Amino acid sequence: MQNIKNYINGEFVNPIKGGFIDNYNPSIGEVYGQIPNSTTEDVEKAYQSAKSAFKQWSNTTLNERRDILSKIAQLIQLRLPELAKAEAKDNGKPLSLAKAIDIPRASSNFQYFADAITQFSSEAHESIGLGAMNFTLRQPIGVVGCISPWNLPLYLFTWKIAPAIAAGNCVVAKPSEVTPMTAYLLGEICNEAGLPKGVLNIVHGLGTTTGQAIIEHPDIKAISFTGGTATGAHIARTAAPMFKKLSLELGGKNPNIIFADCDYENMLATTVRSSFANQGQICLCGSRIFVEESIYEQFKKDFVQKVSELKIGNPFDEDTNIGALVSKPHLEKVKSYIDIAEQEGGKILYGGNTVTVEGSENGYYLEPTIIEVSSNQCRLNQEEIFGPVVTLMSFKTEEEALQLANDVVYGLSSTLWTNNLTRTMRLSKELHAGIVWVNTWLLRDLRTPFGGQKASGVGREGGFEALRFFTEPKNVCIKYE
Ligand code: NDP
Repeated sequence: MQNIKNYINGEFVNPIKGGFIDNYNPSIGEVYGQIPNSTTEDVEKAYQSAKSAFKQWSNTTLNERRDILSKIAQLIQLRLPELAKAEAKDNGKPLSLAKAIDIPRASSNFQYFADAITQFSSEAHESIGLGAMNFTLRQPIGVVGCISPWNLPLYLFTWKIAPAIAAGNCVVAKPSEVTPMTAYLLGEICNEAGLPKGVLNIVHGLGTTTGQAIIEHPDIKAISFTGGTATGAHIARTAAPMFKKLSLELGGKNPNIIFADCDYENMLATTVRSSFANQGQICLCGSRIFVEESIYEQFKKDFVQKVSELKIGNPFDEDTNIGALVSKPHLEKVKSYIDIAEQEGGKILYGGNTVTVEGSENGYYLEPTIIEVSSNQCRLNQEEIFGPVVTLMSFKTEEEALQLANDVVYGLSSTLWTNNLTRTMRLSKELHAGIVWVNTWLLRDLRTPFGGQKASGVGREGGFEALRFFTEPKNVCIKYE
C-alpha cells in the first residue's frame, strides 16, 4: 500500500483526527493506498505554518526565489520517470502522455515563473502640472489557497502554486482527492530544492470538507480554483462575501469548427487528438465538432476510421492511446450520456461501450465515442461530459457555424480550421471564448492569458496575469511641488 501524508511546515504528517480515504488505481479498479481525510484542524495547522513563513518569504530577493523555483523545475525533470508513473497509476492516463505532457509541463510551470518574477514590473503615473508622482506597489497577498482537479494533476497544481510563491505568497494547496500522489511527491521535491518550511503546505482530503475549510478560512485571502462550474459557483457564493480575490477556471463545451478550405490531413490528425487526448478529460478538448456541409460525409468516414485505430489499453502499455477513465463514478457519468444519445435524436457512429482490457479486467475503460446529433440544443451538446465522447453536426454557412459555437453557456476555448484570413479574423473576434486556436490545438505559450468567459470562469491565469492575480496593487502618490 502506498499511504501518503499531509505536507505541512516542510514535514510529512498524519491528519490530526487520523481519518483516511482509499486511493484507487483506475486502470485495475483496485485500492492501492490511503490518503489523509483532512479536517478544518489540518487546514488551520497548514494556514498557521504558511502565516509564520510569510514575513521571511515575502522579503526574499527575486533572485533567491528564482533560484529555488528553478531548482524545483530541475528536480521535477530529474524525477520525470517516477512522477510520470505515479500520474499514470493515479489517473489512468497513458504513461506516454504523462511523460510527454504532464510532467514536462509541471517543470516548465516552475521554470517559467522563476524567470517571469524577475521580469515583472509595475506602473508609474506622473500627474503632470500637479507636481505629483504615482507609482504602483505590487505586494504579495499573504496566505492564498490553490485547489486543483484530477484531470491534469501535477500540471494544474503547479500552474497555480508556481506563480503564487514566485510572487511572494505562502500557500495552502489541495489536489483532487482522486489523484493526490504527484502532489505528495512535490512536497519531497520542494524540501530538496530548499524551499523554506511553510511556504507551501499541501493538505489532502475531500473537496466538501478539506476544500471547504480552505475556501471558508477567514484569513486565506485569495482562492485560485480549477474545477467544475457548479463547484466554482459554490466557491464564489462562499468566498465573495468575505471579499477574497477569486480566480475560477471552470468547465467547457468547446466547439471545433471545420471549414472545407482547411489543411485537411493536419485537421484530421489534430481533431482525433483534440477529441480524445487524456480520454477526453481535458477542459480544452473540442467536444462539439461542427463541419462544413461540403466535406461532412468525407470527414465522418475518415474520422471514424482514424478513431477506430486508437488502441485502448492499460496506461503502462507502450502502444496505448486511450487509458482508463479516472474513477468508477466518472465512468458511469460519462456512460449515462451515451445511454441517452438515442432519446436525444443522436446516432452513435463509433464506440459507446465499456471495454474489458486483458489483465486489467476491473479497470474503467470506455471506447472513444462519436455521436452524430441533429440539434445543438440536446444535452449531449449543452452539458459538459468530460470524457471520450464527441458529437458531430454539419453547417452550411459561417453565420450558422458561429451561432452554433456560441449557443452554449460555456466559453472556454474554440478551435477553428480554415485558411481564409478574413474569416479567421472575423470569427476570432466573434467567438465567445477565452482562447481561440486557429489551425492548431493545445499549443500553449505560458506568457499568454488563460481562462474562460461565461460559465467557464472568471479571471485569467498565465504569464503576468497570474502574477497580477497573486499580488495586491497599491498606488503611492508623492507630491513633490
Ligand atoms: P470538481 O469541481 O469536482 O473539483 C475540483 C477541485 O475542487 C477538487 O480538488 C475538489 O476536491 C475540490 N472541491 C470540490 N468541492 C469543493 C468545495 N466545496 N470547496 C473547495 N474545494 C472543493 O472538478 P473535477 O475534479 O471533477 O474536475 C473536472 C472539472 O474541472 C471539469 O468541469 C473541467 O472542465 C474542469 N477543468 C477546468 C479547467 C480550466 O482551466 N478551465 C482545466 C481542467 C479542468 P475533490 O476532488 O477531492 O472532491
